[in-house]
Amino acid sequence: MKKNIRIVLVNTSHPGNIGAAARAMKNMCVERLYLVKPKDFPCAEATARASGADDVLANTVVCDNLEQALVGCHFVVGSSARSRSISWPVEEPRQMAAHVIQESQQGDVALVFGREDSGLTNEELEKCHYLVHIPTNPDYSSLNLAAAVQVLCYELMLFSPAKNNSFEEEVRDLAPADEMESFFVHLEQTLVELAFLDANHPRKLMRRLRRFFNRARPDKTEMNILRGVLSAAQGRKLHKPDR
Ligand code: SAH
Repeated sequence: MKKNIRIVLVNTSHPGNIGAAARAMKNMCVERLYLVKPKDFPCAEATARASGADDVLANTVVCDNLEQALVGCHFVVGSSARSRSISWPVEEPRQMAAHVIQESQQGDVALVFGREDSGLTNEELEKCHYLVHIPTNPDYSSLNLAAAVQVLCYELMLFSPAKNNSFEEEVRDLAPADEMESFFVHLEQTLVELAFLDANHPRKLMRRLRRFFNRARPDKTEMNILRGVLSAAQGRKLHKPDR
């Protein structure tokens, strides 16, 4: 639920970035903006750059410190432009979006952005469960603050079940675990018959193949096709693929 997601900007120097962030948020249906000690806010430049997202600015909550901005949040993600000396779990934007949308079903979550010149301090990062890093040119990794807000809010928008577009994900009739297990038995049997797999040392290859097919998440029709391929390889037609 987007209403449970807050964007927190820490010590922003340029009011134009606040306005541009508000606009980026509203475009992506994220509307709760928290500012920690902004240098200059409210400000005409912020309003001008918000370009119609005045309601986001009008409802902005201004706080004295990050702790205040995070009150009530059970899940906090920090957005970081660089890899840090402190090791902290880092997610890519798409993973982060899945995580944040899931956590937002339980209550408030925060996405925290740092200062234009120096990002977030280690102390601030330690208040985060995860960091998110937007992949970039390794030699030029720092996005403009509002651009970083745009990218991450876009990922939230794509992930939201309530997204307001016509690209609803196709509902797939996935093969259940028991069908996957029968497939793996069949696969192993076939590979042994083809002498591709040494029955005495099957472990590693089968584990890799399991990982591969589990990642693909075949649906029932695809599973039928795979079973048909195995049967054909075995020289018999036990399973007729539904093509
Ligand atoms: N010079 C700063 C970066 C400031 S950019 C530094 O070295 O940390 C301002 C903020 O935008 C960052 O604190 C971060 O929250 C966000 N940001 C910029 N580029 C990003 C990236 N590649 N991935 C994730 N967040 C980014």
